[in-house]
Amino acid sequence: MLRFASLGSGSSGNCLMAEASGTVVMLDCGLTLTETERRLARLGLEPSRISAILLTHEHGEHADGALGFAAAHGVTVYLTHGTLAAMKADGRAIDGVRTALVNGRQAFFVDGVQVLPYTVPHDAREPVQYVLSDGAAKLGVLTDVGIPTPHLERNLSGLEALVLECNYDRDMLWAGGYPRWLKERIAGPFGHLDNRDSERLLGALDRSRLKHVIGAHLSQQNNRPDLVRQALARALGCAEDWIGIAGQDDGFAWRSI
Ligand SMILES: [Zn+2]
Ligand SMILES: [Zn+2]
Repeated sequence: MLRFASLGSGSSGNCLMAEASGTVVMLDCGLTLTETERRLARLGLEPSRISAILLTHEHGEHADGALGFAAAHGVTVYLTHGTLAAMKADGRAIDGVRTALVNGRQAFFVDGVQVLPYTVPHDAREPVQYVLSDGAAKLGVLTDVGIPTPHLERNLSGLEALVLECNYDRDMLWAGGYPRWLKERIAGPFGHLDNRDSERLLGALDRSRLKHVIGAHLSQQNNRPDLVRQALARALGCAEDWIGIAGQDDGFAWRSI
């Protein structure tokens, strides 16, 4: 069995927990140390239980809390060579933190959790996203990606659970107050998925084993949970309230596959 939960998701911080065969891993850590510890307690998890922090990329809302948490609790940070280089170039305090390099094409194990990284188009140095497994059931996580690609479809087909970015509603983004360059960055091929992109991607996957679909990384300015539920429910032909939402403050509670 694999279980997973989120401490929070969105442009102010992302952190997801997964546990299989007694091993707990953290996927991204974009909250402060205090906030991460507080929210872990909400899930009933001691920091000492965490075996690894898997980073997707260096953007602050994914990586800002990782080194502090890793140093405080002696946890190894797994990241790509490019993410490590970008964090060093930013002058982040990597000294004294144990790191392990991730190859975006190579699966590996953190004790009881199988980790399958896959590469994604996003405006970071060497971004990856992850599929996590207990050897049987699979959880796919995809946020921070500009456009759906066949490579993503292959990696996310046949999963039991999917946490899927629904960053913005196109009309809300273009009508909103962001500067033009930022709108273009978000909507560009190395930006983020909008509700329609995610609906199309979900519709193109093998969904025969899916038991959980959760919309994630919602923009608080440019999206609404009801629009996300509508879009993803259309792709699945299911009731809107079956679609989960990962909130910025509350994430979502444990789910099992
Ligand atoms: Zn992000
Ligand atoms: Zn990003």
